[in-house]
Amino acid sequence: MYIAPTIREWNGYVAIDEAITPERDERLSAERAYELYWADLLGADATFLCVGQGCEAHLICACLEKPEQNLRIRPYFRSRRLEDHAATCEVVHARGGEKEENKPDVFEAQRPADHFRAAPSVTAPASVSHDGLAPRRTSGVTGTAKRASHYYRLSSLVQKFLEHRRDDDLDEASVEIGGETTTYAALFRNVYRQKVAELTGTRAVWWGKASIRATKEGGYFLTFSRPFRHDDTELRPTITLAAKDIEAYAVRRLLKARLDKLIDEGGRCVVFAWAKPWMPTNAESAFVRFYVNNLDHIDVRGTEVLDELKNTSRVAR
Ligand SMILES: [Zn+2]
Repeated sequence: MYIAPTIREWNGYVAIDEAITPERDERLSAERAYELYWADLLGADATFLCVGQGCEAHLICACLEKPEQNLRIRPYFRSRRLEDHAATCEVVHARGGEKEENKPDVFEAQRPADHFRAAPSVTAPASVSHDGLAPRRTSGVTGTAKRASHYYRLSSLVQKFLEHRRDDDLDEASVEIGGETTTYAALFRNVYRQKVAELTGTRAVWWGKASIRATKEGGYFLTFSRPFRHDDTELRPTITLAAKDIEAYAVRRLLKARLDKLIDEGGRCVVFAWAKPWMPTNAESAFVRFYVNNLDHIDVRGTEVLDELKNTSRVAR
């Protein structure tokens, strides 16, 4: 069965999901192009070509250099003009086709080992065109069958959460995470006033208002300002991002750009962490932490995300 590729309007443009970059001989999503750019593995001047049949339209990856993301800013591909695409290109000429299948998004808890490999050195003669036209694709990476979206950074999933919330379909939109399929509605949980002692076994995307500061060691320390409930008290969870984890993180330039900007603006933020709340079993006074060793599992945003959440029709969970 032919499945039409995803076509959406975005900021008035036809947003295209995937492109081929001859520099890496790789077919990739705009999200991956964004990560490669921020991992210093793809230049701002990289070439992106349409994946459509017989089409070599040059695409732009919008928002590639913007560290922040919100409901108006996210990476996507687009062409300068619709006429850039070949007549045979199904990416932009397949409107009104069959409805795309609803596949769950997939959040991978671990990246493949070679995920941030440098571009392979271009030695294959096929990558140099014989006809003086645009570079040819050397791998069989064309075709537009819709693939499930795979995400590695929690930030990408938060982005989808915000979009589904805006579209009011959090209960239907599914996501595969940690080997289980759930809905965005069930996965994202606000810490506020929840009974933490009953939830220490619950891995979810916990979120809430928080404040952030830099530590002397070169890491970051976050404190939720909205608390969990515990007996008669309230517990504000904390998260430490260790300097050594940040140094080892491929997309650290993006993470630091975001966090330092928030600190410059006063440190108020909204944090999302895929983790279980942790409490000590026999400490004098109870406290809660989220341990985030894999920095792909945390997303920290400015408080304007609260307006985005508020302006959607759903009640915070
Ligand atoms: Zn095309």
